[in-house]
Amino acid sequence: MFLVVEKYGGTSVGSVERINAVAARVAASHQKGERLVVVVSAMSGETNRLIALANEINPDSEAREMDVLVSTGEQVTIALLSMALNKLEVEARSYTGSQVRILTDNVHGKARILGIDDAKVREDLEQGRIVVIAGFQGADESGNITTLGRGGSDTTAVAMAAALKADECRIFTDVDGVYTTDPRIVPEARRLDQITVEEMLELASQGAKVLQTRSVEFAGKYRVPLRVLSSFEDGPGTLITHEVRDMEEPLIAGIAYNRDEAKLTIRGVPDEPGIASQIFGPLSEAHLNIDMIIQNVAQDGTTDLTFTVNRGEYPLAKKLLEEISENLAAREVAGDDTLAKIAIVGVGMRSHSGIAAKMFEALAREGINIELISTSEIKISIGVNDKYLELAVRTLHKAFGLDSDPTEESLGHLGGE
Ligand code: ADP
Ligand code: ASP
Ligand code: MG
Repeated sequence: MFLVVEKYGGTSVGSVERINAVAARVAASHQKGERLVVVVSAMSGETNRLIALANEINPDSEAREMDVLVSTGEQVTIALLSMALNKLEVEARSYTGSQVRILTDNVHGKARILGIDDAKVREDLEQGRIVVIAGFQGADESGNITTLGRGGSDTTAVAMAAALKADECRIFTDVDGVYTTDPRIVPEARRLDQITVEEMLELASQGAKVLQTRSVEFAGKYRVPLRVLSSFEDGPGTLITHEVRDMEEPLIAGIAYNRDEAKLTIRGVPDEPGIASQIFGPLSEAHLNIDMIIQNVAQDGTTDLTFTVNRGEYPLAKKLLEEISENLAAREVAGDDTLAKIAIVGVGMRSHSGIAAKMFEALAREGINIELISTSEIKISIGVNDKYLELAVRTLHKAFGLDSDPTEESLGHLGGE
């Protein structure tokens, strides 16, 4: 029988009405003979609400307790969806992540899935039941509840699909597929019929939140057939493909951005072997995610180093860098937490030169100052002041010929928190 894992995001289960609509959709697929595992997120706004509550009590709450708290959002929706299904006379059973036994490491707040015990799920499926699983969560070896990072329900769904060797994994959300860029900031963005897993991975890791990065990693590693669709209307959505893309296709598949970035510079560090490791060693020990790194050419035996971090981690990174600076007798530390990152992504750029030049030229025409640049085989990423973010994304979208023809069909439903 055809086995499908479906995932419904926050907006898709954001009200009783929406939960009933999802139940009707799932029940219809069940009636068609599909075996279904349904992963759900918390109702839209709920995870943020829970985090705000914790911050009122103590902004430095223990990560373990934060996970106990934020995992409750998904527990509400699994129960409500199962009730809605049962009301339609479809047998359904809900499970939290730890009840399934989604085993993770113990890094609270950004845990990684290590293994899934699918015995109970298979048993239910065999009995003709629909299995409803709470996204975004698991448990570590000692049974502590863990969460997988924001957007983690995508990863639960793809990991479940991989474990069960599902025939398909469908991610239902509030847009009708993956677009050339976020349609909320570029109304001319186009839905892609398909995108390679390699490109999707790069877009996700550069900030396109339509799929969590780890979910795309799982899809690639286990070759999960993955599709992104709207829960609000029928349509083909976007297929994430595992084939090599036709080189006739456009050079750029899409543009991703991340508004929550910051940069730090350490000036006047001695230009000697081992300096970079003395700077980045302590930062990595503190689990900080460092992204772009630039080191200037040395002058008078000293040099400057600049790198980016997530904005949320900026205060800690700055404090650590100031300590490092003192130890190394560097001149000063400077920082800016108004940075945004934009990346153009496409496997087509591998075989073409001149893409970077075209990118910089388009931004220069709009007077947008580029602060940092980093490249890989299939992406060029830049840092700009966040006040330019929207203008820069729109400019690049147009410059690379991604804008849709205004006579084409209009966008899908746009919900949101
Ligand atoms: P869900 O709650 O269903 O998980 P998310 O809000 O996490 O939904 O992700 C869907 C959102 O991702 C869209 O509403 C859209 O604003 C945003 N997004 C960013 N980049 C893209 C893109 N390239 N294609 C489609 N959506 C994108
Ligand atoms: N509820 C979690 C979040 O808001 C997980 C998810 O929706 O995927 O990040
Ligand atoms: Mg999401």
